Amino acid sequence: MRLRSLRRAAVVVSPATLALGACALVAAGAVAPLHAATPAPGDVLALTAIAMVLLAAIVRRLHYQAPSARHQRVSFWLAVAPALVDVELALAVTAGTYAVLAVTGGVLSPVHPLVYGIAAFGLTLLSSPGAAVTLVAPFAIEAVWVARSDDPRALAVPVALHAVFLVAAAAAHALFLRGLVASHRRRRAVRLEREVRSMTEAARDYRLISAALGPASRAPRSREDEERLLAAGGVSLVGDACAWVLATVKRSLGARTVALAWLDDDGERLKLKDIVSDRDRLVPSRMPAAGVLGAVVRDRTPVVLAAAKSGQLPYYEDAGAGAGAAVVAVPVLEGPHLRGVLCADRSTPFGDDAKEILVEAAAQIVRAVQAEQVFRAVERAKYEHERFFQATALLGRALTPEQVMETAFDAAAAIVECDAAAITLYDRERSRHRVAAVRMRPGIAPLFDAAALAGLEFKDNAGLAAMVVKNRHYLPAGGEPREVTAPIYTKRIKLDEARSLLVLPLVAADEAIGTLMLAARAEKRFGADVREMMGVIATQVAVSLQNGLLYKRMETMATTDGLTGLTNHRTFQDLFGQLLERAERHGHHAALLLCDVDFFKKVNDNYGHPVGDEVLRRVARVLEQVARKIDITARYGGEEFVVVLESSTAEQARQVGERLRQEVGKLVVETEKGPLRVTMSVGVASFPEDAKDRATLIERADHALYHAKHSGRNQVVTYAQFTAARSKKAS
Ligand code: GH3
Ligand code: MG
Ligand code: MG
Repeated sequence: MRLRSLRRAAVVVSPATLALGACALVAAGAVAPLHAATPAPGDVLALTAIAMVLLAAIVRRLHYQAPSARHQRVSFWLAVAPALVDVELALAVTAGTYAVLAVTGGVLSPVHPLVYGIAAFGLTLLSSPGAAVTLVAPFAIEAVWVARSDDPRALAVPVALHAVFLVAAAAAHALFLRGLVASHRRRRAVRLEREVRSMTEAARDYRLISAALGPASRAPRSREDEERLLAAGGVSLVGDACAWVLATVKRSLGARTVALAWLDDDGERLKLKDIVSDRDRLVPSRMPAAGVLGAVVRDRTPVVLAAAKSGQLPYYEDAGAGAGAAVVAVPVLEGPHLRGVLCADRSTPFGDDAKEILVEAAAQIVRAVQAEQVFRAVERAKYEHERFFQATALLGRALTPEQVMETAFDAAAAIVECDAAAITLYDRERSRHRVAAVRMRPGIAPLFDAAALAGLEFKDNAGLAAMVVKNRHYLPAGGEPREVTAPIYTKRIKLDEARSLLVLPLVAADEAIGTLMLAARAEKRFGADVREMMGVIATQVAVSLQNGLLYKRMETMATTDGLTGLTNHRTFQDLFGQLLERAERHGHHAALLLCDVDFFKKVNDNYGHPVGDEVLRRVARVLEQVARKIDITARYGGEEFVVVLESSTAEQARQVGERLRQEVGKLVVETEKGPLRVTMSVGVASFPEDAKDRATLIERADHALYHAKHSGRNQVVTYAQFTAARSKKAS
């Protein structure tokens, strides 16, 4: 509450003191430049007022607290208040300066350069409006002075010169300031970068980054950011813990120096991680693994010396500094790995307890590092699980097989960065694999020839995909192509550039229905954790995929005829209705061909039902082949078929019918009783000539077919031919 009223006061006072500042400025202009003579009472009053305004403005500026951004949004005055405070200070200071000038001789005062100082002050410390005032206000006052002077001409030249100097000084100052700020910023950026680098390095030293999980688990960028963030916290925690341990050791042993040196990646050099010492001439960071420390690195056992020789303590810059000192140094071991050396020295010999204390301290340091590693592993796992759940949630939403496969690729990409992915489906009846979906990472050169991969079919072979389906276990075991010699699918698909590879089985209900392949140019992409997570994803993909395939199969079953694979009767009726509507709308022709196999009952009777079925299948294939350009080919029922031609006249339809009849006539079905041939009769009705609605068209095609049957079979008859024959017979 108090704060708010203070803020309100700040706003109210701002415009008010601004006005006061302006008055002070006018007053300064009004004060006649005083020369030695006694000042007029008015001038004294003005000078006093100016001094008070100046004092008020300075106090206010010093105690001023800018309103918060939220407050600033509330009102205009709150938003401009910080600038107003600067402006009022600039006004007051300028007025004060000119009051001093007035007392000391006006325009020609010897202390006139004060004005440049004020401008510099404005430019350096005040916001732009305040700075502008310190530059502009002097002109105003001096102009008033010139105007009021007895001899304006005499003053014009000095005032003009002042103006030039002021502008030049301001420009030079601004330039200098900008350069200064820029160089300051540069220095800060360099320092920041150096800090980040040394922190990352430290994180690596403590094995906080990657090493705990192995480089295999490197995933997309965002994760590296996550790693960096985590590492920042971890490094300072471990660093604090180490510093505390070293300080404690130094105190308890009364040591001169206690140093923790960390082994470099190459194992050749030591890096001084932390050191507490009474001496000040220490090596800055790296040192050779020499002397006592070298011995510990070599033998991995503690070393106790009664008197070190010169140069045996490499952390002293001066080789002789350690000469004669008693030393105890122990290895810092993390499991079987040597991480560094902990070393203490002092002038009097160490007892046995010193070694034990140091060993315990080294263990303490390792525990701090390990605790941090565990914490980070938990954090990392949390992050990975989040992505994992996102991926599985995606899969749950996919419906069709195509959607499932695309989502599978998305899910894989969410877990591990890969350059190529593909899914194969296995047709158990035909023992064939088919590449059903392919995705290459966009924006880079494709890892495989996607065109060659898409739709690729191959039989059960010795390739990885076939093996994976057979064994229902992923390959290669370690996620690297060089572990296997076999191709992924066939020899045509080359693996040249892939350094990481994973082919996972898609197992649903204990049966492998295909594979999910992931490949990357980078090495060791598919570490154990990735393989495990992708395994779970693959199972989910398999289940979703099988549901999708089942759905598709059901859809197919509902619309096709089981024996011939042609469109079934019901679907034909729907499609035919739609086709007629289209023809009607666009004013197109259409024709219906009703086909019936001749003496089919005899086929069944003489050769048996299975042969009859085979005949129907073969006839259906003929219809499909001839009917490339035909819009609907369906089994109407029994041994009757329909073909509908869009945009065809009766004559064109008759020709197609003729072609169908001839092709069926050429069929030879081999049976136990020798080769079997069949013939077929066709009736044609056309839209719009013969009829306009579906039922009548079918009825008229049937009449034409009936006529074909009764005039000898194995022929094509149009409805027009039928009516012509009927009227001829009638007449
Ligand atoms: P027409 O030349 O007059 O057409 O003589 P048809 O023997 O073909 O005549 P009909 O229509 O009387 O005979 C059709 C026969 O087709 C009757 C039925 O047993 C047989 N049939 C119907 N559906 C099937 C089938 O799915 N498979 C087999 N094998 N025969 C079928
Ligand atoms: Mg029939
Ligand atoms: Mg028949």
